[in-house]
Amino acid sequence: MSDWKAQAQAAVDRLADRLRAVAQELFDHPELKHEETRAAALLSDVAREAGFDVGLGVAGLETAFVATHPAITDGPTVAILAEYDALPDLGHACGHNLIAAGALGAAWAVASLKSDLPGKLLLMGTPAEEGGGGKVTMIEQGLFDGVDAAMMYHPAPMTIVGHGSLAITEVKIAFHGRPAHASAWPEKGINALDAVIQTFNGLYALREHIKDGARIHGIITHGGAKPNIVPEYAAAEFYVRAPETPYRDELLVKLRNCAEGAALATGATLEWSEIGHSYKSMKPNRPLVDAYVSNLEAVGWSLDEPDDAMGSTDMGDVTQAVPGIHPYLAICARDVAGHTREFAEASASDRGFDAMIVAAKTLAMTAIDVLTSPELVERMWSSFNET
Ligand SMILES: [Zn+2]
Repeated sequence: MSDWKAQAQAAVDRLADRLRAVAQELFDHPELKHEETRAAALLSDVAREAGFDVGLGVAGLETAFVATHPAITDGPTVAILAEYDALPDLGHACGHNLIAAGALGAAWAVASLKSDLPGKLLLMGTPAEEGGGGKVTMIEQGLFDGVDAAMMYHPAPMTIVGHGSLAITEVKIAFHGRPAHASAWPEKGINALDAVIQTFNGLYALREHIKDGARIHGIITHGGAKPNIVPEYAAAEFYVRAPETPYRDELLVKLRNCAEGAALATGATLEWSEIGHSYKSMKPNRPLVDAYVSNLEAVGWSLDEPDDAMGSTDMGDVTQAVPGIHPYLAICARDVAGHTREFAEASASDRGFDAMIVAAKTLAMTAIDVLTSPELVERMWSSFNET
């Protein structure tokens, strides 16, 4: 192992107590998407202490930041990404407190060596992963321009690297009908709820004929006011997901056809809207994945057998914009699901903190690989451009 990597690991070990305290502090004060003011301030302050120049409130997002290490020379640009938003009611049940502390540790460790390393080092604070798409906005605002490697990790029930994520779009379907007394004059009414139910039925038929791995799941958000009034207004929300972004777009058309058919059948008027939350699928960069895996093995961690459970993340959009990785490190038993109280507990456990330290080390080591190996950077870009 290179001397740089050994030094980076030693730096993370020296910072371990501090990083745990940051993870615990974020855990104790969970903040929802786009409201992470306390987390963004804390991380910015510590990044300044680590020697970074910090711009807080970038890309028009109050809680986004870019921390740039001032030692910049010719060479590649590495961005280490932190997430720090929590979930309603469940707090840090997705472990973003650990993501933030791990990213901070990795960036701090590389920063401590940066005056001797080529290239440019960024720590990016990316808010609102849970449905707000902070990274999507940051990409649109050009903040990833010039980045050669974007890397983050995510706590999980298992350790897997190079896993994909599903492209997602969130859709709202509303129908407008006509009210009438449901018993005395039902013939005068147009039933908007029937249109919603017909949409679900159309979707059930469609499901038999979609590719494996795609997901369309919905809830009824409005179903009428009273049984004796023909529902004038009814609405549903769906998440449409697929392993590839173009197939998600195909499924959106198919779902819309179900809704239009339901409108025709019932006489209700369809109002279709795609609301927030549209992420691309993940494109893990293979050479970067391989580099990360060898660093993970070098610190004594092994990979678990992957399964096909997949969610969606705005890191998908990042990996479609520049070479990137989003490895998962185990913090709990395999049968624990994310977004549960049990997972939240693991996000402030010794096992969770230990995994965060491993993440800080391995992300730092991978950043050093990228900064010091022009050959790796070349392979990353050719793999990115091929796939
Ligand atoms: Zn998450």
